Amino acid sequence: MKIAIIGAGLAGLTAAYELRDHEVTVLEADGRIGGKLHTVPFKGGPTDMGAEAFVRRRQDAVEFFRELGLEDALVDPSDKRPRVYTGGKLHFMPPGGLMGIPAEPQDFFSAATNERIANEVPFEWTPGHDVSVGALVRQQYGDEVVDHLLSALLGGVYSCVADDLGLRATLPMLARKLDELAADGPVTLSAAVAAIESGRSPAASHAFATFKDGFKDLYETLAEKSGAEIHLDTFVSGVTRTKDGFQVTGAEGTFDRVVFATPAPTTARLISKVSPEAAQTLKDIKLASSVVVGFNFASAIDPAGNSLPDATGILVAADEPGIQAKAFTLSSRKWPHLGQREGFLVRASFGRFGDDALVRAEEDDLVDIALDDLKTITGFDGRAAGVEEIYTQRWFGGLPRYDHTHLETVAAVEESLAGVEGVAATGAWAHGVGIPDVIAHARKVARDLA
Ligand SMILES: Cc1cc2nc3c(=O)[nH]c(=O)nc-3n(C[C@H](O)[C@H](O)[C@H](O)COP(=O)(O)OP(=O)(O)OC[C@H]3O[C@@H](n4cnc5c(N)ncnc54)[C@H](O)[C@@H]3O)c2cc1C
Repeated sequence: MKIAIIGAGLAGLTAAYELRDHEVTVLEADGRIGGKLHTVPFKGGPTDMGAEAFVRRRQDAVEFFRELGLEDALVDPSDKRPRVYTGGKLHFMPPGGLMGIPAEPQDFFSAATNERIANEVPFEWTPGHDVSVGALVRQQYGDEVVDHLLSALLGGVYSCVADDLGLRATLPMLARKLDELAADGPVTLSAAVAAIESGRSPAASHAFATFKDGFKDLYETLAEKSGAEIHLDTFVSGVTRTKDGFQVTGAEGTFDRVVFATPAPTTARLISKVSPEAAQTLKDIKLASSVVVGFNFASAIDPAGNSLPDATGILVAADEPGIQAKAFTLSSRKWPHLGQREGFLVRASFGRFGDDALVRAEEDDLVDIALDDLKTITGFDGRAAGVEEIYTQRWFGGLPRYDHTHLETVAAVEESLAGVEGVAATGAWAHGVGIPDVIAHARKVARDLA
């Protein structure tokens, strides 16, 4: 079978690998493969400027990496913990809870917030109902939990504040627990989170892992083992059905099947002649942009003796005045294999849904803001310590927004596509933005298509 795959990001390359017994052509608009996975050659070695970790407990992903012969390339993070910057101070992340939603009072919060958590007022919950995570937690615990912690944590994953994210799409286990508890009457967040915490088995290993030489090991291996013909710098602008199959702009010939592995708004455009209904629904999925500035400092201690904290990273509270960065990953402390290199790697991240100003800022300005923010938060003067290397990576439309209508939207797209033969659509917009989710969905749609 002749199959065209549009997009050589993780989803497209995984689909290409899964369909390796067929004649596969991958069409990629960019001059490189990998999409939101991008490993850049720093002097000390390859360094990721897009995704930098995956959830290790996803055995399906680990098994897949083993199948690709990449098991030995996986490395664990250190045991250090992240910090949160709020109220002008660095704090340890409160232990337990669910993505910053506590089951009980924590030193991290004010007395008034702790009072609300301890004496939470039960609320009516309709099983199956959905709501924005931010709205629910504001209603039960107040703004402090959302603005100081929850949005910082969720923002690190989705580039959105908690108010822009749906409960069922981003914290499904909490939605399910509320559904379950609602059978006995009004529910509380604290009881739901406590029940989730008590059901957790102690972690057998680290929660995350990464690839020693960066995610390029993954995307290059997928490309190679897929045996697909990959065309770079090939922007696809439309797909049409003919009596013999499909024609794809930018590619010669006719294809029996087409896989759309592009971000949702692009897929909406490309699929419009094949499934106008799916195209219309896909337009509802909006994207959040972000920018990562990677630094290699000569040292983690500046000449005045100020040192970067002994932590994996720093999350900045969403409502913190005067700070524009949303997070700093202290990569050389987070990943022992990076800590062995000369210098000290830090990734500064900016940008949340609805606010692209920083993503569009001049590189020099971004670098200045990152260095100033880091100094304000930690005292560490990066300029004085010595900036050896800088890499700025803008991610326009980097992540789809999983709001409280997202699951319904995806279900509607899938329903529309179920009636369209020979076509599949996949990518981070479908069933999770995390690397294991993107892989699992791409494999599934590829298997179903062949
Ligand atoms: C900054 C950042 C950090 C992240 N960190 C993590 C992390 O640590 N852990 C984790 O699990 N996940 C992380 N993610 C999420 C994860 O990286 C993504 O969800 C995943 O890589 C998306 O893969 P994809 O194939 O769906 O999309 P993409 O990577 O966007 O691939 C789509 C491809 O389609 C191409 N394309 C677009 N339009 C066209 C066209 N018209 N014609 C041809 N080709 C086209 C694009 O150039 C691109 O290569 C992060 C994401 C970002 C942005």
